[in-house]
Amino acid sequence: MTRTLRYSRIIIQSVIFLILTLCLSTSALCLPVIGDWLTHIQLGYAVTVLSLSTFAGWIIVTLIFGRIYCSSVCPVGTLQDISSAIARSVPRKAKPAYSYRRPNNPVRYTTLMIMAAAFMTSTTTLITLLDPFSLYSTVCGEVSFVAANMTDVSESNQAMTILTYTMLSTAIWTAAVTVIIISISSRHGRLICNTVCPIGTTLGFVSRYSIFQFDIDTDLCTHCRKCADVCKSECIDLNDHVVDGSRCVVCFDCIDVCPDRAIRYTTRRKQLSLPMMQKLTGISTPSAPTQQTNQPSQQNETIPPAP
Ligand code: SF4
Ligand code: SF4
Ligand code: SF4
Repeated sequence: MTRTLRYSRIIIQSVIFLILTLCLSTSALCLPVIGDWLTHIQLGYAVTVLSLSTFAGWIIVTLIFGRIYCSSVCPVGTLQDISSAIARSVPRKAKPAYSYRRPNNPVRYTTLMIMAAAFMTSTTTLITLLDPFSLYSTVCGEVSFVAANMTDVSESNQAMTILTYTMLSTAIWTAAVTVIIISISSRHGRLICNTVCPIGTTLGFVSRYSIFQFDIDTDLCTHCRKCADVCKSECIDLNDHVVDGSRCVVCFDCIDVCPDRAIRYTTRRKQLSLPMMQKLTGISTPSAPTQQTNQPSQQNETIPPAP
């Protein structure tokens, strides 16, 4: 079942990415109906055209399942997964390994506010830079246009008149931003998703309260760290046995590698009494008893007295 979830996610993600890339790059190969639909369900696009139904739809989906938008629909998320998967598949000594890192909330909220200001003031350059779909569609469109016209230039100089300075510069800087995203994600997985992307931050507000969450059963966990090693969001805190639902992109990679079936995608979280969980969910239950774990966190570990 868990394998099915992961493979289904990979197949859906790959198909969406391929269709979107084809449609955005080459109008000749475009699948008009599906491509159009995939464009309209993009959150950045929905916000730009003020499509309340699409926005509300994704909020409801996130409230139920978590950030599956980020794991399957967003092309920039898929681009980051591809680059990190390639980086991790190359055999070398210093293989990139993920480990838990604290959320950088000041940066997250700052970029969200900048994005809101950009939308209100219609600052196109900032929107293109911060909205992942705008960025990806610009890169696909501009780069393919420039490439096509560069070919024509070798045959005749007429194409140069079409290729304005603005288009060329836009193609260069969007391509440069994409290269930066690829290079960071090859080392740190979804760091950009969980630090810079305003859509990720918005969905993160909702996903921390989603009905389905990832939960670590402390009775089963043997603290092997395999889940944390593959978590591209670096959101599994094994000291407190907590998954940060605001940053998890519901990729199911952790479930797939757990040898003890200790991490689960479930509606019933066992750990709500833990202080760290209360901090992440915002729920305060001061009278709740602390749960006993078979792998206590390092902060709580005590050294037994010598006999
Ligand atoms: S966080 Fe942003 S860039 Fe990352 S997958 Fe989600 S929408 Fe795309
Ligand atoms: S916690 Fe699991 S499902 Fe969530 S991002 Fe990390 S590996 Fe993927
Ligand atoms: S992979 Fe499973 S057993 Fe290992 S640390 Fe993660 S939850 Fe625990």
